Amino acid sequence: MDLLELTAVALGQKIQKKETSAVEATQAVLNQIDKVEGTVHSYVTVDQEGAIKKAKQVQEKIEAGQLTGPLAGVPVAIKDNMCTEGMRTTCSSKILENFVPTYTAEAVLNLEKAGAVIIGKTNMDEFAMGSTTETSAYGITTNPWNKEHVPGGSSGGSCAAVAANECFYALGSDTGGSIRQPSSFCGVTGIKPTYGTVSRYGLIAYGSSLDQIGPVAKDVTDCATILNTIASYDKKDSTSYQRESYDFTKALVDDVKGMKIGIPKGYFGEGLDSEVSNAVMAAAKELEKKGAILEEFDLGLVEYAIPAYYVIADAEASSNLSRFDGVKYGYRAEDYKGLHHMYKKTRSEGFGPEVKRRIMLGSFVLSSGYYDAYYLKALRTKALIKQEFDKAFAKYDMILGPAAPTTAPKVGASLADPIKMYLGDIYTISVNLAGLPGISVPCGMDSKGLPIGLQLIGDCFQENKILQAAYAFEQTRAYKSPFDK
Ligand code: GLN
Repeated sequence: MDLLELTAVALGQKIQKKETSAVEATQAVLNQIDKVEGTVHSYVTVDQEGAIKKAKQVQEKIEAGQLTGPLAGVPVAIKDNMCTEGMRTTCSSKILENFVPTYTAEAVLNLEKAGAVIIGKTNMDEFAMGSTTETSAYGITTNPWNKEHVPGGSSGGSCAAVAANECFYALGSDTGGSIRQPSSFCGVTGIKPTYGTVSRYGLIAYGSSLDQIGPVAKDVTDCATILNTIASYDKKDSTSYQRESYDFTKALVDDVKGMKIGIPKGYFGEGLDSEVSNAVMAAAKELEKKGAILEEFDLGLVEYAIPAYYVIADAEASSNLSRFDGVKYGYRAEDYKGLHHMYKKTRSEGFGPEVKRRIMLGSFVLSSGYYDAYYLKALRTKALIKQEFDKAFAKYDMILGPAAPTTAPKVGASLADPIKMYLGDIYTISVNLAGLPGISVPCGMDSKGLPIGLQLIGDCFQENKILQAAYAFEQTRAYKSPFDK
């Protein structure tokens, strides 16, 4: 078997058994990048030299018995909105084109301590605003299954890099679906943990009350293993939560007997592609065959999730992005007349159209006179949505549905109609509003040969339930790579 086809955990085992080395794995990934990056373009930055150097250091520690964990020596790609000391971090925006952080995000630091080899930083929608990775200032990423289609977003670079074997796993971030939707589009597995589980320290903020870092990988075992490593209580993040257990791999059991799975009727109505619907329902049946109990139910307020999300996320974004002013770091316009003109020119030139749209919308809903009508109302809606989920989880262990209403759209088809693009977030967004964990696992292909994702949503802190069901489902099918075609 080609080294590149291994999962992260399988590679880690081979490294521990001295059947291969961190250096060999890193070299294999760099060769693959040389081969496919011209078409896929998953990365904004590839740190060839740094990666090889790091791989050598890690390998020495492995040989000395100092690094014995499952991810030691395994090459990883990091979404470009997580700070990496000494390595450019752009958020795929022109405004951060020359930003080299002086510190590393806590989640990335946790990986480094476990012996990860960072290959580089992956492409994304600018400031994680988007669903296609087309709003990047550094060019688009294409879907490794079909280069005419988008990889999804905003963690499109991370998901495409995993699918295209340009790394063994990656980190993404999810504010309204940015791990689960591109995972679904690229045929890989991604989990958004419960809010507060992974530290946001060093994650460049988009919508702080919604943002969460999570793993993207080839299978559920990898996702659980990565989550074990990146999740931690961090007092540098005031929303970090001290959990009772950080053991997610104990959920890797092929058993769903007696698990109660709720299927929201409203998720299967208008707007859902019939091929996606069929694949997701077929996956539900597989779980039923294994002993899970399926039941349809009405999840209320689904239609309010998108408007509430775009008000809250944009409000927070307008505030979070005010720090990019050309003074402290990042891009600064060249010719200007005085301070205010400098701000204006820098931000006009530095931000792309989608980011500007959201800053304007966010500033508007926060402005006096409109605050109550929009922002406050959205916050109330958010609380009501959480109550709907609470009701559902009083009856069910988890909720099952699609990750996205369609498979990956064609390049260029989404940006022209932003509202329509926002509507594509229907199945993922409410999960962030309620702070819940959600996982997307591949469950089939459409007639165009594009992957379909199954989403399982759990109650807060119940990652292990959805990991267990996802693992059980995964046992019914083999991992498909775009190179198997
Ligand atoms: N598509 C959503 C948005 O544009 C979600 C993005 C995300 O999760 N970062 O806001």
